[in-house]
Amino acid sequence: MEELILKNAAKPSGPVKLKNGWTVEVDRELCIGAATCAALAPLSYALDEEAKAVIPQTIDEDELETILAGAKSCPVDAIIIRDQNGKKIYPK
Ligand code: SF4
Repeated sequence: MEELILKNAAKPSGPVKLKNGWTVEVDRELCIGAATCAALAPLSYALDEEAKAVIPQTIDEDELETILAGAKSCPVDAIIIRDQNGKKIYPK
């Protein structure tokens, strides 16, 4: 298995800042390891050994649309995306 390089090793599930100023964070309490986020946006989301979603470094290479689609695919809305002003983009 390829080694997973996290975007922020100190905060595997974020919040992490994207190039455009958005922040992405996984609420580990909510995450149930359904993995639809990782299936839809494998550059942006992966599961750790506790089956909680973490954010790989490759999120920087992903399209915003895909990052957002991954968040929208989460059955428990555990992925929170904010704009550069801290305003929630998803979930609303
Ligand atoms: S889709 Fe949601 S519940 Fe499933 S792994 Fe991703 S963040 Fe966790």
